[in-house]
Amino acid sequence: MKLRSSAGTLYKLGLRKGPVEQLKTAYLMLDGVCQFNCGYCTHASTVRKFSSLSRVLWPEVEDVSTFLEKLSRSDFERICVQVVSYRGFEEDLLELVERLNVVKRAISVSVRTTNLEFVEQLFALGVDRIGTAIDVVDEELFRKYRGGNLNQLKSFIEEIAALHPKKVTTHLIVGLGESDRELFETMVWLRNIGVETALFAFTPLRGTPLEKHPRPPLERYRKIQLARFLIYEGLEELVEFENDSIKNFKSLPKEFQRAFLTSGCPSCTRPYYNENPSGPLYNVHSEKALNSLEVIG
Ligand code: SF4
Repeated sequence: MKLRSSAGTLYKLGLRKGPVEQLKTAYLMLDGVCQFNCGYCTHASTVRKFSSLSRVLWPEVEDVSTFLEKLSRSDFERICVQVVSYRGFEEDLLELVERLNVVKRAISVSVRTTNLEFVEQLFALGVDRIGTAIDVVDEELFRKYRGGNLNQLKSFIEEIAALHPKKVTTHLIVGLGESDRELFETMVWLRNIGVETALFAFTPLRGTPLEKHPRPPLERYRKIQLARFLIYEGLEELVEFENDSIKNFKSLPKEFQRAFLTSGCPSCTRPYYNENPSGPLYNVHSEKALNSLEVIG
């Protein structure tokens, strides 16, 4: 088992020297050679670059016992385990979750699976939430960049969401060529079946097939964040479209800026996954950053 932790998590635990962020979730990664080949991922089987995932650096956890001890004494509220889909990851993940249970924190697992029995095993072991990423909301682009069948994955998500209400999260990437309407309709559907949406801005990463693909304009990302916020507040009728693009909002609730905070499982902040610390911040990782930044784009 190769266990890594985000650099920010290690800084906060005092296991590495670096800037300590307001971080409520500790991020872990089970690493290996991925069997899939997503066009936007540094872990794709044709990329072979293992020390990062999105923009974040993931040093190896040298001493798991010390790591767990520090974690149990920390004020982290949640642990998120991101799993690279290497051969045999299931066994390692079940073993890791058992070890993590001693820390007594909510556990999210972000994993690519369509195996119901495995998902049930994870919940039975005490996992709080399962994150299974859709990433690409357009059917054709899903086949092209991620591989497989989007509708089959959606059926699986619907099935686990029905069995475990309010315990499922999915990730959506903005900026892969999909329309605003596709994102909007996917988020309405996810809200309706009780699944939480975590938004990511596409980030071109060196060495990946999509390294030259542009980032989404910040202004468009803000509109998608606002749409997500309104959908989950039951206010999606405030979103105005022109053809398949979000044109405007009829009105916005008083606290609309909260839409720009990182979305997903409770307490998930993912600092600097999508952005340079110098900005602009696509996902704003803390209230402090939200108050001190010009976030409208
Ligand atoms: S939303 Fe955050 S905590 Fe939940 S699975 Fe995704 S990265 Fe992990």
